[in-house]
Amino acid sequence: MHLSTFGVLRCPYCGGRLELVTSSFHEKDGDEIRTGILGCQCCIFPVIDGIPVMHLQENATTARELVEQKKPLEARRAMFGLGADPAAAENVDTLIASSDATYRTIVEAFGEHLEGGYFLYRFADPTFIVGHALVRAVAGTVLRGGGRAVDICGGSGHLTRSLMDLSTGSPVLADLYFAKVWLARRFTAPGCEPVCCDGNAPMPFARGAFRFAMCSDAFMYIWTKRQFVLDMLRVIDGHVPSAAMISHTHNQCTWTPSHGQPLTPDGYRNLFETLEPRVFGESGLFADVVRGGPLDLSRREGEEALEAEQALAIIASTDPAVFTPHALEPPPSKPSGQFHVNPLYVADGAGGDGSARFRLRFPSEDYEQEYGACRQYLPDEVVIARADLEALAAGRVPPGASDLLRRRVVVDLPLRYGV
Ligand SMILES: [Zn+2]
Repeated sequence: MHLSTFGVLRCPYCGGRLELVTSSFHEKDGDEIRTGILGCQCCIFPVIDGIPVMHLQENATTARELVEQKKPLEARRAMFGLGADPAAAENVDTLIASSDATYRTIVEAFGEHLEGGYFLYRFADPTFIVGHALVRAVAGTVLRGGGRAVDICGGSGHLTRSLMDLSTGSPVLADLYFAKVWLARRFTAPGCEPVCCDGNAPMPFARGAFRFAMCSDAFMYIWTKRQFVLDMLRVIDGHVPSAAMISHTHNQCTWTPSHGQPLTPDGYRNLFETLEPRVFGESGLFADVVRGGPLDLSRREGEEALEAEQALAIIASTDPAVFTPHALEPPPSKPSGQFHVNPLYVADGAGGDGSARFRLRFPSEDYEQEYGACRQYLPDEVVIARADLEALAAGRVPPGASDLLRRRVVVDLPLRYGV
C-alpha cells in the first residue's frame, strides 16, 4: 500500500481517516506499507502483503490478529482462505516465491473455486470487449484532463488493466476477494492499487477521491444496491467532468446464466437519486464493437427494447461528451504484456506455404452457451503466416496482422499469464 493511498482511504464505518498504528508490528518498504495495522477512531484494519483489508469478516479478523502476532505469512494464508490447509498453503507460498510462477499456476494452486478456468479466455470474451470499449470511451473522456479511477468489485483486475494509462495516479482496484486483487497487482494490472473491501458495506473511500468509478460484471450480486450507487456517486462528487458506470449487469426481465439478483432497467435507473443515468442494452454496444465502431453512446433505447436485453450498462455523468459516438481505438502497435494467439484456438497442423492453421474450440458447453457470441468476431478457422507469428511473439505487429488483433484472434495478454 502506497503512503499516498491514505489520501483516498477512509474507514467504511466511521468515515474517519486512517493511520498506521506504529506501536503495532509493521513492515515498510520505502513509501509502501507491506504489513501493518491501520487505525481510525472506531476500528483497526490490517495491511497484508501491501493490501489494506477494509472489512471485518472472519478471515480479516483472523489475519489482523496474525499481523499483531508478527506473523505476516500466516496472515496472508488466512486471507487466501488457506489457513486450515497447511499443505495447500505451503504449496502456494512456494509457488509465489518462485520466479516462474504465473497467474495460471497460482490460480490452479488455489483450487478450482477461483474463476473456474475461464480467466484464460477473459481478454477476448464478448462481455470483456464491450467493457473494455466502454472504459476506453467513458473513462477516456472524463479523465482527459487528469483524475483518478476506481474499479469496484473489479475481481482480478482485467478491466483495471484497461484503466492503467487513463488514470492519473494508480487506479484503485477494490474487491472482497483478497486473492483476486493480489493476483491483479502481481499479474493482470501491475501498478494498480488494490484494496480489499466489501461491496455490501459503505465504500472505504473519501468523497471526491475519484473522477471515474466503475463496476463491471458484478453489480447484480450486490445486495445493498442503493447504498452502492449512492456511494459511487459520493466518491466522484465535486468533479466536473466525472462519471459513474455500471457495465454488464443482468436484467430482471430476462434469464441469464449466473443471474444474481438483478433489477429491471427502470429499477436500476431509480437507484441514482441525484444524477439521472442513461441505460444501454449491451447487445447494441456489442454490435458497435464487432462492427469496428463507433461505440454510440448517444443512442437512446426505449423501455421495451431495454427490457428484452440480457445485460445492461448504466452510465451517470454530467459531461455531454460522454453521450456521443466514440471511435474505437486502433489495435495496439506494441503489447502492454505479450501478443499471443487467443487460447480459444488450437493448432491444427500446417496451413501450407510456411503458415500455421488454428481452429476455434470452446473449453466447455457452458462456456459456449455463455460466450458463444464471440463467433461473431472469431473465425472458426484461421491461417497465420509463421513469420507473422514470430513477429507478434517478438512484440511487433507485421503489416496486415493488425486485423488479427482487431478480431481478437491474437490478444495482448499480461506477462506471465500462463497461457
Ligand atoms: Zn472507523
